[in-house]
Amino acid sequence: MSKVIIAWFRQDLRIRDNPVLAEVLRRDAAVLPVYIHAPEEDGAWAPGAASRWWLYHALAGLAGDLEALGLPLVIRRGSPEEALTSIVASMRGAGHPVDSVACARVYEPDRVQHDEQVREVLDEVGVGWWQGNASLLIEPEHVCNKSGDPFRVFTPFWKHLRGLPPEPPVAVDADRLEAPDHVPDSLALDDLELLPTRSWDDGIAAAWDPSPAGARTVLEDFVEERVTAYKRCRDVPGVNGTSRLSPYLHSGQVGPRQVWAAVHAAGGADNDGGFTFLSEVAWREFAYHLLHHFPRTTDEPMYEKYRDFPWAPDPQALQAWQKGRTGYPFVDAGMRQLWKTGWMHNRVRMVAASFLVKHLLQPWQDGARWFWDTLVDADLASNTMGWQWVAGSGADAAPYFRIFNPFGQGEKFDPDGDYVREFVPELAGLPDKYIHRPWEAPDEVLAKAGVVLGETYPEPIIEHRAGRQRALDALEATRQQAG
Ligand SMILES: Cc1cc2nc3c(=O)[nH]c(=O)nc-3n(C[C@H](O)[C@H](O)[C@H](O)COP(=O)(O)OP(=O)(O)OC[C@H]3O[C@@H](n4cnc5c(N)ncnc54)[C@H](O)[C@@H]3O)c2cc1C
Repeated sequence: MSKVIIAWFRQDLRIRDNPVLAEVLRRDAAVLPVYIHAPEEDGAWAPGAASRWWLYHALAGLAGDLEALGLPLVIRRGSPEEALTSIVASMRGAGHPVDSVACARVYEPDRVQHDEQVREVLDEVGVGWWQGNASLLIEPEHVCNKSGDPFRVFTPFWKHLRGLPPEPPVAVDADRLEAPDHVPDSLALDDLELLPTRSWDDGIAAAWDPSPAGARTVLEDFVEERVTAYKRCRDVPGVNGTSRLSPYLHSGQVGPRQVWAAVHAAGGADNDGGFTFLSEVAWREFAYHLLHHFPRTTDEPMYEKYRDFPWAPDPQALQAWQKGRTGYPFVDAGMRQLWKTGWMHNRVRMVAASFLVKHLLQPWQDGARWFWDTLVDADLASNTMGWQWVAGSGADAAPYFRIFNPFGQGEKFDPDGDYVREFVPELAGLPDKYIHRPWEAPDEVLAKAGVVLGETYPEPIIEHRAGRQRALDALEATRQQAG
């Protein structure tokens, strides 16, 4: 094989259903797999600490899978155009010129812009450029409403999406992949310094298997054992009711077409559980389409009238929330689950995020940054949409005046207090009646449970009704300002 194509891996860290590898095979070329760590390229949204942990293991897994096929992964660090042109020069020098660089399309605004530059630089050195879709069910350009505009409301988007013929996973005959005769220098994975220097990752390591086998098992187990119960269980954080596929989907260890096909193959799409689950996968799709059409929403409210919202930045309140010390057990359990395991249940994400932006009146961008650094599934599209949804400022958002009750939500979705007891163990001895509102417990009940409010567990950082009213007043002020 004389033709060489660089397969530039990014958020498509898998071999099956990888359109880049399929393209290499279609063109009968040898493949040079490359990963370039370029956090500078992502500006303010460079991968956070938990994401870097995941990335390390996902890359180790990918490198192992490639190695088994006789394909060494070339790892570089720094600007992609410099890394790629240096690899191109090395291959040319060794008499194996690179025909083109193939990669999966990305949607993060900084990366999209950067890709243009990379393409131009490659063009200057006579190397081609190819991009395919590894991350989405369907690309944003192919989905619009009857007026030709992007959907801003989820329900019609979902109806439209499920009416389209589903794209099957891309077939990759991996055994046919061949390495070129020359392979340029590579860094070791450890040189990328993705893992923490001071160990804080035990909880994350205990909660996840970030390997390719882990990705396959999580998908198979969910589709075979749990998808039918999804609708019933997905809102209960104390049970294992959701798929926990989000970090695998973010890194591309699993692609949405594979998820879609697996659910259909197991007959899951025909029952309530499977249907509801696929609609959640479609929320992810919606988030990516929104990011594509409205790239500035990563940092700014989508709707102008929220630009001058009277936030009350307070570093102490923000820190209490980050540490899971607000005095509201359901919120605190979520924030501690996040810190310990790098993930938080969706129901609790909504309640904890709402508590920050409404009861505490902190800018949603501060919450988004904290999630960004601590989530193993931190994803610019879904995180942006999630926070704008909670703040009421995004597409199809929850209206700002709808304010989650932080203990009522706990009583509804964690009625036995299992979730709170797991992550806020200092309250474990309280009876169910008070587990979500310890401030109402009589002294003798607190004493029996070994709880001293203000000492072993905080008093509520703000009284619920006062926080709610302050948020509504802030909204009213914004409305009047906007006229
Ligand atoms: C404030 C806030 C921030 C969020 N930040 C992120 C984030 O950074 N990364 C992320 O992947 N998700 C984010 N979400 C969405 C959601 O909480 C997670 O996708 C979900 O909890 C992941 O768990 P799971 O894989 O078990 O989900 P499941 O319930 O099993 O759903 C299956 C898949 O569908 C997608 N999905 C489900 N719900 C949503 C949703 N509301 N929005 C977008 N996609 C969804 C995910 O890819 C998920 O893996 C956020 C939600 C909120 C409210």
